[in-house]
This record gives sequence, C-alpha cells and structure tokens, in this order.
Amino acid sequence: MPAKINLPSFATTEDVVKELKPGYPVYCLRLAELKRQARYFLDNFPGRVMYAVKCNPHLAVLNALYEAGIRHFDTASLAEVALVREHLPQADCYFMHPVKPRAAIMTAHQVYGVDHYVIDHEKELDKIVDVTGGGDGKVVLVRIVTPVHEAQYQLSDKFGISAEDAPALLNKVHAAHFQTGVAFHVGSQCRNPQAFVDGINTALDVIEAAGVPVHYLDVGGGFPALYQDDSPPELEAYFEAIYAAFDQSRLRRDCVLMCEPGRGLVASGCTLLVQVQLRKDDKLYINDGVYQSLSETLTGKMKLPARLINPKREITAEYQDFTILGPTCDNLDILPSPFHLPADADEGDWIEIGQTGAYSNSAATRFNGFFPKTFVAVDAPPLLPR
Ligand SMILES: *Cc1c(COP(=O)(O)O)cnc(C)c1O
Repeated sequence: MPAKINLPSFATTEDVVKELKPGYPVYCLRLAELKRQARYFLDNFPGRVMYAVKCNPHLAVLNALYEAGIRHFDTASLAEVALVREHLPQADCYFMHPVKPRAAIMTAHQVYGVDHYVIDHEKELDKIVDVTGGGDGKVVLVRIVTPVHEAQYQLSDKFGISAEDAPALLNKVHAAHFQTGVAFHVGSQCRNPQAFVDGINTALDVIEAAGVPVHYLDVGGGFPALYQDDSPPELEAYFEAIYAAFDQSRLRRDCVLMCEPGRGLVASGCTLLVQVQLRKDDKLYINDGVYQSLSETLTGKMKLPARLINPKREITAEYQDFTILGPTCDNLDILPSPFHLPADADEGDWIEIGQTGAYSNSAATRFNGFFPKTFVAVDAPPLLPR
C-alpha cells in the first residue's frame, strides 16, 4: 500500500469556509469521485488504463487512483517517474515524452526499472539503444500524427511522425529487438469519438505497411470532461467506438490496447475555493487566476461552474454576470468568461469553482508570489456544470 496522505477532511465546502475562513485558495479534493471515475475507466475501457500524471500529480490524487486499481502511470519527465515510483513502488511507469534527456532515460531505466518508451524520431531510438543497451524485453512505441476532430487542444503540431514515415521507424524499432507499439493523442478535450476511430485506423495502416509484429496500441488521452456550455458525448460512446475499431482489426491476439486519460479521469475530482478580495462594480478580484489554478480558462477557453459561499450572511436570490480578475499584476490575468453569481457578491465572500481537478495545481506558476498549495478533502459531491 502507498504511504497515507493525511489531508484535513471536511463534510462540505461550507465547513471548510467556517473552519479555515481561508484568505488563500484551497483545493478541495473529492477522493470518492476520483475513485469512482477511476473505476469507471477500469471497468469500461476495453484495455489497459494509464493515468497521465502531468494532469494532477498531487500524492492524494495518485493514492486515490491507485486505491481504485490504477497501476499504470504515463510520465513525461524523470521527476514524474521518481514521484510515482518512490510513492507507489508497485506501480508501472511509462516514459511517454517523445524527447528525453539521456540522463533521464538512464535513471528511469537503471534506477526506476522503466521499460516502456515513446519516440517519434529515429535519433531518439538511437539514444535509447545507446543508454539502455537495446531491446531485450523493453518496449518502444512510435507516436504518430492522426487526423484532428473537435479537440480543444491540438497536440500533433509538436509531436508525432507522419503515417507515411512511421512504418520505416517501426521497422527500425523491431530490428533493434524491442517490442513495438503505436501511440497517438487526438488532442485534449476531444469532443468527437470518431477522432479515436480515425486514429486507430491510421495506426492500423501504419502497422500493415510496416509488416512487423506490434504488441501495443495506445490511443492516448483526450477523453473530455464536462464544462459549462460544453457537453461532449458520454465516455461510453468513446469506449464503444474504440472497442469496435480495435476489435475489427487484424492485430495480433496479444496486442495490448491502452489509453492515457488525464482530464477525463480527474477533472471532476477537485473544486477550488477562492475568496473575493475586492468588488468594483461588476468586477470581482479574487485570489487565484490564470497564472495559478485557472490557466485553462484562458488557454482552453474552459468555462467553469461557480457558486458563491458565505455562511455568515443571507445571500440574494438575484443573479448577474461578474468579470473575474486574478491576483497578479498582469492584464492577462482576467478570466475570459464571466461567472454568474448572486448580485450582492462582495469582498470576503468565497467562490467555489468546479471541475478544477485537471491542469490546475499542476500548471500553476509562482508569478508575483501567488502560489496556492493548500489541499483538503471534502466529502460532498463535486460541483458539476449546470
Ligand atoms: C497530456 C497527455 C495526456 C493526457 O491528456 P488528456 O487530454 O488530459 O487526457 C496523455 N498522453 C500524453 C502523451 C499527453 O501528453
């Protein structure tokens, strides 16, 4: 069992407010929700489920996922490998960044026993051969570019080899005595299951052209979470589409199907409790923003559910839109979408912001001295979009 993480625990977010009266942001983890969502993936995805650690590496999150049965972790840096392997010694890490420092490959391999790697260029294969001594039970997956459909973030500009050039690379991987695999990422917050089907079909074309045995097919992350005004299809529709495409293929019977969810697994597992520091007309200045936990409101235009909390006073039933401004001195630190909140919102009130389990704490900077680091556990259900 992993070492226990003892978080202060509360029945509701109102209790957090009453007890702590926090003037600093508080991440309110929903451990039961994290476990429920992990079990949903494990029970329904027709293959192996890896968690993409970059999405939320907090140890209490890793623990919750591990306790629910997640044993495979998609890591992109030596620091992430070390975090997972030191904390969860029984878990497997997969080194899924296509560009790795030699020292990171060496330490991942020699110290942490990592034996799954992703590449998208033959020079990266040379590196892995140089550093680890080559094949012999290890796995190298080739990351390919696949057609994009309705994803909020495109991830194929930076990584991935074209379907045209991939077969030759796959042949080199096989010739170097590695077990082979093909991986792709359809883009984050992908709203169309067909993207996965097209990805699988592109991978199958590559595999057929390469003519080598392939042991792993990794469909990556991109599974969507719910945001305000953004209701993608149910995850089940993605799993069914993936299963159908995989099942119809003529891949080896022992080919392992894998996925690497981040957002879809953990977004609902945390809310963020912030405090209003000043009201100016219809503007609310709060103590967290785009340089800390809320960067995705800017980069991905995510609209987050929000509700006002103040147990000390009667709150009006009248609502209006407020512009939300973060704490740093930068003009960029204004949320692009307003929050719809009670019209008497004012200094000292708290706002609970939902669906902040993904890319919140993991993407926060220390700019201007603002860095949220308080985590508590809350039993109440997560705050979902209306
Ligand atoms: C970021 C990332 C993921 C997770 O993506 P989500 O959209 O959060 O599911 C999975 N795999 C790789 C290689 C990634 O870079």
